[in-house]
Amino acid sequence: VLMTPPHYAFVKISEGCDNHCSYCVIPRLRGRFRSRSIRSGAREMEMLSADGRLKEVNLIGQDTTLFGMDRYGRAAFPELLNRLCRLENSVRWIRILYTHPAHYSDELISVIAGQPKICKYLDLPIQHINDRLLRSMNRRTTKKKIVGLISKLRARITGVCLRTSIIVGFPGETDSDFRELLSFVRETKFEKLGAFVYSKEDGTRAASYACQIPEEAKAERLDELMRLQQEISADANSSMIGRTVDVLVDEEEGEKGLFIGRTQSDAPEVDGAVYVRGRGIAVGDMCRVRLTDAMEYDLTGEVA
Ligand code: SF4
Repeated sequence: VLMTPPHYAFVKISEGCDNHCSYCVIPRLRGRFRSRSIRSGAREMEMLSADGRLKEVNLIGQDTTLFGMDRYGRAAFPELLNRLCRLENSVRWIRILYTHPAHYSDELISVIAGQPKICKYLDLPIQHINDRLLRSMNRRTTKKKIVGLISKLRARITGVCLRTSIIVGFPGETDSDFRELLSFVRETKFEKLGAFVYSKEDGTRAASYACQIPEEAKAERLDELMRLQQEISADANSSMIGRTVDVLVDEEEGEKGLFIGRTQSDAPEVDGAVYVRGRGIAVGDMCRVRLTDAMEYDLTGEVA
């Protein structure tokens, strides 16, 4: 049963997680990481696209980049992506969500860069950038590796849009750790960024850590980070004015001739929207839109 409109779908490629980030309860709730087969993922996509209305598939799993490791004994995500891209159907965008920065390979980056159907949008949750906090979060990566990965992604994938998520107020986060995070975000200019205050989850290691941060300080840090991101996002959106891009129309606004859609750089139910004015289009269409104006998180345009 498709719970989304017929033009986009979420396809789960794995369940569970073996990463055991110290703040996260998911491995306890969902169990060990296990992938479905490449064949079954491809069959689901064929089934969903059988009536020709499906335009976008969002691949999900707690750690999509690790796909296949348990089942095939190797990281088989590039193979799955190639297989899905070769299917002949109505799908125009294949979007990868929930990647883990420690699990990218050169092969994966080449497939993302080279396959036209794969959205040049990557969901890359880093959670923090300070090495001591990355260690106590058990993120299995370092600042140097994250910086290297981001520059590689931007160099090899033309026009890539990076979304990240960040936790502020993790136990032991000092003011100087937070300043380090802010200056990293200022320099990196993620096109999209979601931030959350750390909250204690029962049964996780981090819940028992000393040096929990007071709620007020967490809220102030979140506010400061999001104000910074608002400026970055507004600049990124302004630079889009005048361009003509593909937009997938999600819904019709109450007003006649006004629609709400998304570019390849906007994941459904997460990112911004494009308000599109035009005639002769309908929900579920993919159309060319000339962008005419920008707000902090959304864009407006006209059907070209
Ligand atoms: Fe796994 Fe993500 Fe939870 Fe880490 S945060 S344990 S990668 S589900």
